[in-house]
Amino acid sequence: MRFVRETKPQASARAVAVIDRLDAAMPEAKIELDHQSPWQLLVAVILSAQSTDRRVNLVTPALHEAFPGPADYARATPQQVEAHIKTLGLFRNKAKSLVALGRELLATHQGVVPRTRAALAALPGVGNKTAGVVSMHIGGDRAFPVDTHVMRLSNRLGFTRHEKPDAIEEDLRALLPEEKWFQGHQLLVWHGRRVCHAQGPECHRCVVAELCPKRGVKLKKPKKARATPTARRLLSRPPRGRS
Ligand code: SF4
Repeated sequence: MRFVRETKPQASARAVAVIDRLDAAMPEAKIELDHQSPWQLLVAVILSAQSTDRRVNLVTPALHEAFPGPADYARATPQQVEAHIKTLGLFRNKAKSLVALGRELLATHQGVVPRTRAALAALPGVGNKTAGVVSMHIGGDRAFPVDTHVMRLSNRLGFTRHEKPDAIEEDLRALLPEEKWFQGHQLLVWHGRRVCHAQGPECHRCVVAELCPKRGVKLKKPKKARATPTARRLLSRPPRGRS
């Protein structure tokens, strides 16, 4: 299939088909950060910057026990929080952010996590992507937050030509109907982790391969089969029956 000069309705129809096909293949796709409440989700998403979800899930049970809510962070020092998250990237900055976040939430929201993306993004240590992920999971605003996987896949799939998350999100929101945003985000993240890796995407086993222009992807050439020593010996013998 060629993807040159796709009209907007064609691009939109293809984007919907991609999300539907991914959904059929991975109906279980969901956020992989363990959490039991909006507060725990907010903490986990902040901690996940520059860290894997698996590592975050390893530290959060003890962290939530030591600091159950915003008031506990507000009373703590960053050093006390650091001790629980040392295995994560940027742990010093994250500890400072969580303490500042606890204090701000108490001061401005009575310790309750706000639902809207705008209110979340105004909190210390909460960027637009984190605000979008949390808001859409706790029944706030619909969003299509762009993390590193969504960014990579959106470009490879030809949904955007932008590099900046906010511009990519705008393109995705224009391509897909609102009711697809939530699951679309989860599916692109799952697919990015399992098949469309940053290095060496596995296009040969990708369920949307025929819908994907693979923009910027350098597919590896299949390796030439190497002859075994026995095969080399046989090949070097002159054919029988000739003199
Ligand atoms: S075909 Fe390849 S580049 Fe396109 S989404 Fe699938 S794995 Fe990624």
